[in-house]
Amino acid sequence: MIVTLRKNTPQKEVEKLYKYLEEKNVQVNIIRGENFNVFGLVGDTTHLAERDILANEWVENVRRVAAPYKLANRMFHPEDTVVDVAGVKVGGNEKIVVIGGPCSVEGEEQITRIAEEVKECGADMLRGGAYKPRTSPYSFQGLGYEGILDLKAAREKTGLPVVSELMSADKIDEFEENVDLVQIGARNMQNFDLLKACGHMTKPVLLKRGMSSTIEDWIMSAEYIMASGNPNVILCERGIRTFETYTRNTMDLAVIPLIKEKTHLPIIIDPSHATGDYRLVEAVSLAAVAAGADGLIIEVHDHPSEAWSDGAQSLKPDRFEELIRKARRVAEAVGRTL
Ligand code: PEP
Ligand code: MN
Repeated sequence: MIVTLRKNTPQKEVEKLYKYLEEKNVQVNIIRGENFNVFGLVGDTTHLAERDILANEWVENVRRVAAPYKLANRMFHPEDTVVDVAGVKVGGNEKIVVIGGPCSVEGEEQITRIAEEVKECGADMLRGGAYKPRTSPYSFQGLGYEGILDLKAAREKTGLPVVSELMSADKIDEFEENVDLVQIGARNMQNFDLLKACGHMTKPVLLKRGMSSTIEDWIMSAEYIMASGNPNVILCERGIRTFETYTRNTMDLAVIPLIKEKTHLPIIIDPSHATGDYRLVEAVSLAAVAAGADGLIIEVHDHPSEAWSDGAQSLKPDRFEELIRKARRVAEAVGRTL
């Protein structure tokens, strides 16, 4: 971290700040100029906040050189993390995983039927929301615990591990017991108490990117889960809010190589929420596989026009199967399997 002091800072103030920084357990190197003094802080600076140092009236500016995250940082953990979801491995050079299923669980019969279909198409896991974060309080809010039990029944029938969204910490035990991969949705990406609670779980976490979050905000949220004790985090890009209205969100494709450079965590893509349009899902999925994604999470419904949520972005099983067939060829072209 580089701290530049104001022009003509009195020597007494320079010494005071030097001492303050040294007490923060970092090595402080001073560069004395004619007008300016510059401090170079080396060591672990993750516990220092630029804005706290900037609060000193003699500080002109503060620049961070190293990233503010440690546990998620590729620099301190060069090898890829492979997350094991009930036997399905995600990340590294493992097979690219495909997660398919409806936006919402609509009952045991529906989720079991779709689970069988996505399995038949080649999916590795089943998705289904039981607690739904809806924009309107008048929209379907999910079946709750009943939906979780329906997912469990679908898993028993098909053997597919299940992914579902956790919205509040009071359901932790329910998810720990019944869900294989705990999804934290875009809207809760910075619900820090929920992230900390996930850190105490033994189940892996699928952390979606907040719709208005920077990449650094997102990695810091992963850091929260890891710092609370759970190293098994899979990141999921699901599109961000921009000025564009032709798509529901804007898919950030560059995030895939970037996340791989900055972190060692697996990253998967959700082309359904990223586009909001079933017609666009295949192209975005193929692009994500080509760009190095470790997996795809795709909404699939056998009767999208009757889906209780997100029908417009849900693929029918035949389209889902075709997508998987094409994605396998793209995966092969980039040296992976799917
Ligand atoms: C979902 O997966 O159905 C969902 C609500 O996702 P997101 O949090 O990305 O909007
Ligand atoms: Mn959805």
